[in-house]
Amino acid sequence: MAKEELECSFCGRKKAETNLLIAGLDAHICDRCIEQAHGIVVEEALHSTNNELSKEVMLKKPKAIKEFLDDYVIGQDHTKRVMSVAVYNHYKRLLQPKTDDDIEIQKSNIIIVGQTGTGKTLVAKTIARMLNVPLAIVDATVLTEAGYVGEDVESILTRLLQAADYNLEKAQNGIVFIDEIDKIARKSDNPSITRDVSGEGVQQALLKLLEGTTVNVPPKGGRKHPDQKFIEVNTENILFIAGGAFDGIERHISKRLNMQAVGFSASKKENVLEKDHMLKYIIPKDLKDFGLIPEIIGRLPVLAYMNPLDKGTLRAILTEPKNAIIKQYKKLFEMDGIDFVITTEALDFIVEQAIAYKLGARGLRSLCEAVLTDAMYELPGDESIKSLKVTKQYAEEKLQKTTIKKLKAVS
Ligand code: ADP
Repeated sequence: MAKEELECSFCGRKKAETNLLIAGLDAHICDRCIEQAHGIVVEEALHSTNNELSKEVMLKKPKAIKEFLDDYVIGQDHTKRVMSVAVYNHYKRLLQPKTDDDIEIQKSNIIIVGQTGTGKTLVAKTIARMLNVPLAIVDATVLTEAGYVGEDVESILTRLLQAADYNLEKAQNGIVFIDEIDKIARKSDNPSITRDVSGEGVQQALLKLLEGTTVNVPPKGGRKHPDQKFIEVNTENILFIAGGAFDGIERHISKRLNMQAVGFSASKKENVLEKDHMLKYIIPKDLKDFGLIPEIIGRLPVLAYMNPLDKGTLRAILTEPKNAIIKQYKKLFEMDGIDFVITTEALDFIVEQAIAYKLGARGLRSLCEAVLTDAMYELPGDESIKSLKVTKQYAEEKLQKTTIKKLKAVS
């Protein structure tokens, strides 16, 4: 057949009418038919499970889930393992065929304890990315008990619907990350005359959501009012991940450990030494002592912790994750035809600054910005410059120009 006569064997379009015509053994397919066929394959995959999620995605084994997390989240091995299992079990639960053996697998909602900037949100984001499910990140501090100034807990589901482009099925299989869950801890142990509407009241309101219930959700958010149309959202298959810094929880942990360690003189010393890594001993009771009500703790059965980021981890965060900050800059410069190199000493220096000013992992980005802004302003368009090498001295000079205080305010 002459070249001009080639046509798509599916829709009959002539080669000239297509953007792309791919040849098979004795047939051809055009770009439009490929797109259409792909749509059908995806649609089929979605319908092949009872919950509109592809089996293949859901049944990634825990080891594969952890490997995926390893590409994006540095360190935090324990948490990554715990989360991989929890996510695996969660989606296995969704796939379980209805049987009459009375064994109902319960939800494996997760609570992560760890200082701010240690990667709690990142883990949740990475899991959502891997599963290709919508993710809503909400802040527990804005929530109040229904009827009080603030947002109702249902607003969480509004966010999830928005993240799912109002696709109800998708939203109902999504993930919600509730940040700063520690801020809704009970304010004090003494029941007081004033209601604790942003603390215990919110915890109570969250209970049903976490467990699995059908909620009338105002699609555009805001307060519920009688003439509003609602979307009914079932939270049974939504995975909730709560995160919080729980400042001062170490005290509860060490108190408990010391009490248990009565008679073991050596262990007391160890506890002091390990003050920074106390979180690894955390148990649900410590969350209760901190002010979470037992019912909430019961509905967040998987407890994980994040280690504080040490120098080595911060250093690795700069260069190792799949979308590491330095890799991003390299790409940005590359687009202007500039070969970007940064020396080990310069990287170490940036990490030292982040530690010295307690900027954490979030500060790494602002520090890099401060170091590179001049270059990113001046080099594009300058044909004579084809490479940029950032040394420690270069980084020092650029940082001196920026007040670190300003960076601290940004991070
Ligand atoms: P948290 O939710 O614990 O406050 P985030 O997950 O928002 O912290 O982390 C802030 C930023 O710091 C992330 O966007 C990420 O770039 C970086 N980061 C923090 N911890 C890690 C980690 N363990 N691995 C890779 N990047 C991290």
